[in-house]
Amino acid sequence: MSSIEQARKALLKTKFFPYWLDHKDAPEPEPALQEDIQCDLLIVGAGFTGLWAAIHAKEQNPQRDVVIIESQCVAIGASGRPAAILSASVVHGLENAQRFFPEDIDALETLGKENMDGFRATIEKYNIDCDIEWGGELTVAVGKEGIPDLEREHKLYSAHGHDAHMLDADEVKAEINSPLFDGGLWSKQRSGTVHPAKLAWGLKRIATDLGVRIFEYTPLQDSTHLKPGVLVKTPEGSVRANKVLLATNAFAAGSKKIKNRVAAIRDRIVVTEPLSDEQLATIGWKNRQGVYDTRTQLNYMRLTADNRILFGGRLGYFFNNNTDPKADKSADNFLNLVKNFYATFPTLKDIRFSHAWSGPIGLTTRMAVHYQSYHDGDMVYAGGYSGFGVTATRFGSRIGLAILDGDDIPETRLKFATTKPNYIPPEPFRWIGAKITMYALDTMDEKGGWRIPWIRMVEKMGFPITQNELG
Ligand SMILES: Cc1cc2nc3c(=O)[nH]c(=O)nc-3n(C[C@H](O)[C@H](O)[C@H](O)COP(=O)(O)OP(=O)(O)OC[C@H]3O[C@@H](n4cnc5c(N)ncnc54)[C@H](O)[C@@H]3O)c2cc1C
Repeated sequence: MSSIEQARKALLKTKFFPYWLDHKDAPEPEPALQEDIQCDLLIVGAGFTGLWAAIHAKEQNPQRDVVIIESQCVAIGASGRPAAILSASVVHGLENAQRFFPEDIDALETLGKENMDGFRATIEKYNIDCDIEWGGELTVAVGKEGIPDLEREHKLYSAHGHDAHMLDADEVKAEINSPLFDGGLWSKQRSGTVHPAKLAWGLKRIATDLGVRIFEYTPLQDSTHLKPGVLVKTPEGSVRANKVLLATNAFAAGSKKIKNRVAAIRDRIVVTEPLSDEQLATIGWKNRQGVYDTRTQLNYMRLTADNRILFGGRLGYFFNNNTDPKADKSADNFLNLVKNFYATFPTLKDIRFSHAWSGPIGLTTRMAVHYQSYHDGDMVYAGGYSGFGVTATRFGSRIGLAILDGDDIPETRLKFATTKPNYIPPEPFRWIGAKITMYALDTMDEKGGWRIPWIRMVEKMGFPITQNELG
């Protein structure tokens, strides 16, 4: 049987829906808005950014009247779909911080650590049951050519006081037994994994307990500036708000202009059936780290609480920033990911996949959250985490609120908050460019050739799509 036939067979009984959201504890959605209401602060979008923003706003001022509207249900966007590997960085990792915000790197490091400590403290204070594990992050070199990248990263981590350790080929295989892994960098502090949907549902509970009103199946359709304040229309009602935070990330809803700087890229994930004790013993993974590899089209992986392996990393783009592509609801677009899974874990060649899905990544040319102001600053967009936002959204939403409220705090003076990422070309150039880039990424490690100068050119345009040195 060819490897593609084997992959197709493994996906025969798969649900093309996020494993995280397919859970008995999923709360009933709140009723849709069916009247005209008023509030101090309206938050649009109930992913992590929207939920954290609501909690920050209420914790800062319990009297503030806060409303969230969500076009579908809580966590249906990226927040219910990630690998949910936790990292302390608030701007997509230390290398990204060094690349785009070198003058602020020390401040961003400190803020990232504080953010992660606050994230953990909130989960503990409010007793959110979200299967959190603190096994650290492990970056693995696939092939010896990945080792210089790890060494460079190790130097940077050590210079910034991270508890990070290089592992040689034997040591990394002792952690996770894959024939592909030739080295590793294990960062042990303030990182791990979480069940993202249970986290989002916990945040929803806290927000509701703090008095936030949430309306699900209530999309923003249109907004008008009332000078001061904003009127937001929804299908069966309206909200008149003093301030509006657009927490719509890759969906970029609220103003057509947001998309000029945010591309909705898809990333794909498959999840296995639970591993038996014998199957898990062939892999090891006793420390249960979140794992990324060093390949250009990287794969990432982690264990779930019930010992399934989540395996992700296969980018795609659909015309016009489509955030609900039908093509990702059947096996074809997941076959290569499954093939990579079997190459990574050959001892699991008979395992099947229970779930497969894709999710929207709000990609920007700086790979980090940024802010866009509309209606003379009465409406602010906070988003563009570029696939690295499970904890960074807590930080990004707090600074977004400060910008919306005109609070002059040290964070709002840092470059990531005061400047914007570059423009991204409109359609059809966006689609054509994305297609060529993704093909190049897929085949570059094997075939090289024209792909390397192409990727270099895309990087020169401002997209840091590989963290690695290109050969
Ligand atoms: C496949 C994948 C893997 C990832 N893995 C990781 C990881 O391992 N670690 C990590 O840190 N990050 C990861 N991320 C990124 C992380 O999930 C996101 O950065 C984070 O969830 C963004 O949260 P958000 O609230 O800003 O956006 P979202 O969760 O996307 O929320 C936006 C919300 O806005 C709603 N909305 C859209 N339009 C409207 C409208 N008109 N009116 C009202 N509501 C609207 C949407 O329905 C959605 O619920 C991953 C993302 C994906 C897709």
